[in-house]
Amino acid sequence: MRALTLIADRQLEVVEMPPPPPPAAGEVQIRVGAVALNHIDVWGFRGMAFVKRKLPIVVGAEASGTIVAVGDGVTRFAPGQDVVMYGALTCGHCKACLEGRDNFCENVGGLVGFHVDGFARELLNMPERLVIPVPAGVSLRDAACAPIAFSTVQHMLFDNAKLQPGETILVHAGGSGIGTVAIMMAKAIGCTVITTVGDDSKIEGVKKLGADYVINYRTDRFEHETRKITKKKGVDVVFEHVGADTFNGSLLVMKRGGRLVTCGSTSGPTATINLMQLFQQQYRIFGSFGATMKNIAESLDKMAAGMLPVIDTEVSLDDVGSALKRMESRQVFGKIVVRF
Ligand SMILES: [Zn+2]
Repeated sequence: MRALTLIADRQLEVVEMPPPPPPAAGEVQIRVGAVALNHIDVWGFRGMAFVKRKLPIVVGAEASGTIVAVGDGVTRFAPGQDVVMYGALTCGHCKACLEGRDNFCENVGGLVGFHVDGFARELLNMPERLVIPVPAGVSLRDAACAPIAFSTVQHMLFDNAKLQPGETILVHAGGSGIGTVAIMMAKAIGCTVITTVGDDSKIEGVKKLGADYVINYRTDRFEHETRKITKKKGVDVVFEHVGADTFNGSLLVMKRGGRLVTCGSTSGPTATINLMQLFQQQYRIFGSFGATMKNIAESLDKMAAGMLPVIDTEVSLDDVGSALKRMESRQVFGKIVVRF
C-alpha cells in the first residue's frame, strides 16, 4: 500500500509499505479517504529538534476513512461505515480519559503523524474507542476537517472561552483553516465577528462566512480598528493563534473581564505581557490544545446540519510538500485536503 513519509526535514516521499495485519481484538481496519493538513504538519515538515520521534515517519494528523474490517469484540462499527479518527493515542483508562477529557490524557502515546506514524496511508488499524462515526450526509472530504480544525475551535470557543450568543469576538487570521471555522461557529450563535486578513483578496470570503467587520492587518493596525469598531468598549473574546505578532494587541482590545483563548503561535512563541493590565482588567487567558472525542462528534453534527468546511484545494499525495509550503506562506483560504 502507498504511504506518505517524511524522510528528513522538508523532504516527503510516497513509499510502498506492507498493509497492516487483520485488526486485532477491539480494533477496526480503516481505508483512509481523506487527510486534512494543519499547522502541526508544517511544524513536523520543518523539523523540530526537540520532538521525540524517528524518521521516516508517516505524516497526516487529521483524517477520515471507511471501515473495511473489524476485530473480535468490536460492537460499534461494521464494514462500509464512514468514520474519523482521534489524532492522539490516549490510554483510555486514566482519570482524564475516564472523565472524557481526552486531550488531558496522562499516558498519551503520542500525536498521530507527529510522534508516531500518521494517517497518510491507504490502510491502518485503530482501537475502536478512538474512532468516531460520520453522520449521514457528510462527505469524507468534509469529515476529514472535523478531528482537528472543527473540534479545536469547538473546544476553544465553547469549553474554554464559553462564548455566549450576542458577544463580540475578534478572530485572528480569519482566512486560515481554524479562522474560517471560528467565524462560522461564532456567527451561528449570533455573535458579532471581527476578523483580520493579510490580503484584500480574502475579504469577500470571510464576509461570506459571516464576518461583520474585516481588518487587513498589513495595512491597518487591528488594535486601532477593533477599538474603533467597538466604540472603545473592546471585545468579549479574542480567538488567538498568531502569537508573538498579535498577543499584546489582543490583550489591549479586550473589555474588562475579556477572555483570550489561544491554540497557536505561528508568528513566534514568545510574548511579554503587562501583569498590571492582566489583573486590573481581570482578563482570563486560556491555552487550548487539541479537543475531546465529544468535540469531534459535536463538530460532525454541525457539519451534518450544514456548517461545511471551506476547502482551499484538494491535492494528491505527491503534492503535499508544495501544499505545506503554501500554508507556511499563509497563501491559503480554508483547508487543504489530500485525497486518496
Ligand atoms: Zn488517558
